[in-house]
Amino acid sequence: MSGGDMAKPLLGRGGVEGERGAAPAAGRTIGVLGSGDFARSLAIRLVCAGFKVVVGSRNPKRKAGLFPPAAEVTFQAEAARKTDVIFVAVFREHYSTLCDLADVLAGKILVDVSNNTELNHHRESNAEYLASLFPACTVVKAFNVISAWTLQSGARDGNKQVLICSNNQEAKRIVAEIAQVMGFTPVDMGCMSSACEIENIPLRLLPAWKIPIFLALGLFLCFFTYNLVRQVIHPYIREQKNKFYKIPIEVVNTTLPCVAYVMLSLVYLPGVLAASSQLYYGTKYRRFPDWLDQWLQHRKQIGLLSFFCAALHAVYSLCLPMRRSHRYQLIETAVKQAVEKKMTVWVEEEVWRMEIYISVGIMALGLLSLLAITSLPSIANSLNWREFSFVQSTLGFIALVTSTLHTLTYGWSRAFDENQYKFYLPPTYTLTLLVPCTVILAKVVFSLPCVHQRLLRIRRGWEKGRYVKFVLPSATGEYSSGESSSNV
Ligand code: NAP
Repeated sequence: MSGGDMAKPLLGRGGVEGERGAAPAAGRTIGVLGSGDFARSLAIRLVCAGFKVVVGSRNPKRKAGLFPPAAEVTFQAEAARKTDVIFVAVFREHYSTLCDLADVLAGKILVDVSNNTELNHHRESNAEYLASLFPACTVVKAFNVISAWTLQSGARDGNKQVLICSNNQEAKRIVAEIAQVMGFTPVDMGCMSSACEIENIPLRLLPAWKIPIFLALGLFLCFFTYNLVRQVIHPYIREQKNKFYKIPIEVVNTTLPCVAYVMLSLVYLPGVLAASSQLYYGTKYRRFPDWLDQWLQHRKQIGLLSFFCAALHAVYSLCLPMRRSHRYQLIETAVKQAVEKKMTVWVEEEVWRMEIYISVGIMALGLLSLLAITSLPSIANSLNWREFSFVQSTLGFIALVTSTLHTLTYGWSRAFDENQYKFYLPPTYTLTLLVPCTVILAKVVFSLPCVHQRLLRIRRGWEKGRYVKFVLPSATGEYSSGESSSNV
């Protein structure tokens, strides 16, 4: 099954189709084996959605008070006898204790909602294990990605997708119908062999974030070490000055914008590489290398991490004047000035540099916030493709340019001052400018009419060296066809 198919709901959403599907499902009697957190939330949600619910417990008397009055709480065998679709809200370890119910469960649909505590914990998935214990039943894997809390809140908040798989199409359809009536979006994940993958989903810790987080940490470590050497180690070795107090705030605060800025440029660099590859090969039908594909897919996370670092940089910068070290330095400067009988320390150029530096910095952060907000699914869904691409592509590029201005006004003429080359190391800002400036330059080249037109044609299916049929309007307005080399 293709990725696109997997993302499609099993049933049409809303409208007449949705209502038609809902009618036979609502009113059906659903069984739930188990009386724990998940069973309770499931029963509440099913009752709210108009189903009759029979809960099967080992101790129904004790558990009955925990369920809504509309749900019947009885012994497991009784619940199994009364219903055809039964949710098994019991941990895998206890499946074997249900084997006594095998006869009464025969021919029925068992919905496996279980999760594991570790990725690929068992050789076979929980659903396949349940199916092996109850060969006369039809097992459907579903609802394990929905938490008890989401079930109770009625699918208004949290994840709305219910991933479903089974070897039996009809059973899958029935469970999908139930999910839809409950307000969830059923997603067909194919046959039972997908159960393992579905069971691993709730256990994955930010899978799409791993690479971007490692990238951010790697950059942070590199820039932090570089700044530490320049701001702390160098004065200590060369002038025996103790500047170690700078580590928690100053060094961190000079590192954060470096990471934010480089990460922002790394959002746009893969697009530049992809466009260069398309221009070079003269086609859009050539697959990008895997690393570039992966990079393109992680742009959102890289961008959000860039925003995170930029936001932290803003907070750290606001806190700089609060430090004791800053106050002592101010007083020392004032005293020095008084001793030297200096009336003013005003340097016009410095004043202007700082004003512009802070202003463009605030603008860059504002633009980054806009990019971060529009990447949230709920906001992104409310934009059409053109609006989304305008914000992410055009405003994103403006944010990169603004950040570059912020960096340049920060550095000003320091790159030309030889005292700034500590241990022959250039100022950090000059290093951070490398990738972003390459991206900006490439974008400028791509916007030249001759390059832009060629890229546009390639993206509309034109290929280098391919002969295409063309249709031209004649002087009389009629159309004549012929063959032409698209290279021309
Ligand atoms: P739970 O609160 O511990 O409930 C488990 C229930 O299993 C017990 O209340 C018990 O009900 C029943 N049970 C049947 N035979 C048992 C036995 N031999 N030993 C112990 N209990 C037995 O667990 P839960 O959180 O509801 O989770 C139930 C299932 O849902 C699990 O497979 C879990 O992975 C899955 N799940 C839970 C969540 C969630 O958010 N909690 C989310 C997704 C999936 P009786 O005493 O009445 O028989």
